[in-house]
Amino acid sequence: MEPIVGDEVKIRTSDAEAVVEEVLPRRSTLIRRQTMKPQVLCANLDLAVLVLSTEPNFSEGMVDRVLVSAHAQSLDVVLVLNKADLVPRGSEARHRVERRLFVYEKIGYKVLFVSALEGEGLEDLRSLLGGRTSILVGNSGVGKSCLLNKLGQGQIEVTVGDISEKLKLGRHITTTTTMPRRRLFSFSPRPLRPFRHRLPGEGPPAFLIDSPGARRFSIWDVKPEELKEHFIEFIPFARHCKFSDCRHLQEPGCMVKQAVEEGDVPPERYMSYQRIYQVLLEGTEGSFRSALWTESEHAEKRKRASVREADIGAPLSAIEIAVLRSSLHHLHHAFKGFCCKDSLRSMELIMTDENKDTDGMGYAAAAGKPKSDGG
Ligand code: GDP
Ligand code: ZN
Repeated sequence: MEPIVGDEVKIRTSDAEAVVEEVLPRRSTLIRRQTMKPQVLCANLDLAVLVLSTEPNFSEGMVDRVLVSAHAQSLDVVLVLNKADLVPRGSEARHRVERRLFVYEKIGYKVLFVSALEGEGLEDLRSLLGGRTSILVGNSGVGKSCLLNKLGQGQIEVTVGDISEKLKLGRHITTTTTMPRRRLFSFSPRPLRPFRHRLPGEGPPAFLIDSPGARRFSIWDVKPEELKEHFIEFIPFARHCKFSDCRHLQEPGCMVKQAVEEGDVPPERYMSYQRIYQVLLEGTEGSFRSALWTESEHAEKRKRASVREADIGAPLSAIEIAVLRSSLHHLHHAFKGFCCKDSLRSMELIMTDENKDTDGMGYAAAAGKPKSDGG
């Protein structure tokens, strides 16, 4: 087994060198998908710190994927909105991001607002990290390096990048957490990224692992039929579904769907479940930009799809509206070469010549349907 960050290893030492003989069993890992293979980010973790920001804006698709992957490995997660200084208390932008994050708080995740720049919330974060090994995950540019430096109180120094630089170079900075063998015991003044840092301070030691820069997070180790177990707020309702193997999709007597209608499960999360389920089922997770959408892209797509509840009419249930909206949204993304007419009643997909097949993937690849099938 190739050692990765966080591994415990058995070494044999002689006068001049130390040789890794064995990688000890891993207590936990965090795995993400890299196209069609897994990337084990690090080992022996207790907590994943999901760092988010509004610039660059986060997407719920990414958040939900990290939550699912962490839960599948029995890892705790805390959501940290960094750059809180960019959304001052009381501002409309603050309300907006609070509303988005309240969805997660409501279902039991811890959410912190922090600012690496101005220091807000850092003490709360520090106290969460005590006595545990944690990994910082999040898109490039959200401020992971800054946070690490701040928590390091002068004893840790990692390079803070300029966002535009990082987005350009993101893929080349740190694409793997496997440390080259020859570097296992070399000490450089600037630690290699990723690296397991020990935070200074009294009390039980806190270790913080910096993860590779990434623009997406895709699920590796969860099958479509297992997905529902990792949407933690479904669990108490799922127990009472009519069918014990209910997928909470079209099954009658589904208590999860009822909970969505009654406002006990956030509809955003239910839609996200449907989307991810579909992608896992098609086997397209990680192969198109499902997890990459930023909120502004979402907004743009929503605007173009122009799905208004007024168009839908009264007889539809909240669930049906949610399903229609989410599938239209999904269609829109997958069938990039199509645009949608203003009304759901005439749910016509019209192919526009100039957009046709622009991403070279066509909708055939994305949806697994023959191209001649006009949908
Ligand atoms: P990383 O890619 O996640 O490691 O992000 P960096 O730590 O390199 O930060 C990316 C950019 O965000 C840098 O230009 C930082 O100065 C900026 N940044 C980081 N934290 C904050 C913060 O709390 N507030 C503001 N306004 N900017 C921040
Ligand atoms: Zn159900």
